[in-house]
Amino acid sequence: MTPGTGPRTCREVVDVIADCVAGDLGVDERRVFEAHMADCRECAAYLRTYADTIRVARDAHAEAASPQNLPERFVRAIMEALERPPRTSRPNRGST
Ligand SMILES: [Zn+2]
Repeated sequence: MTPGTGPRTCREVVDVIADCVAGDLGVDERRVFEAHMADCRECAAYLRTYADTIRVARDAHAEAASPQNLPERFVRAIMEALERPPRTSRPNRGST
């Protein structure tokens, strides 16, 4: 894998959330994106809000043809990953 491919910082991740939800991210970018979502609660919460907003908007305009096709399977996969407790801190006892 090429280092530097895909969003790495929270700012970059937030920047590409729209692209990601729209399905415009490449495979590598999406992988990095998903990995960040699994580790970063703040971005995960943001994505949750974003997905909810789109879902509500889609419901509101259900009769009109919606230009954005939300990849629900992808969002659902992230949501399921978020149900797991974050592994932000590892037990650092007996490491030597
Ligand atoms: Zn983040």
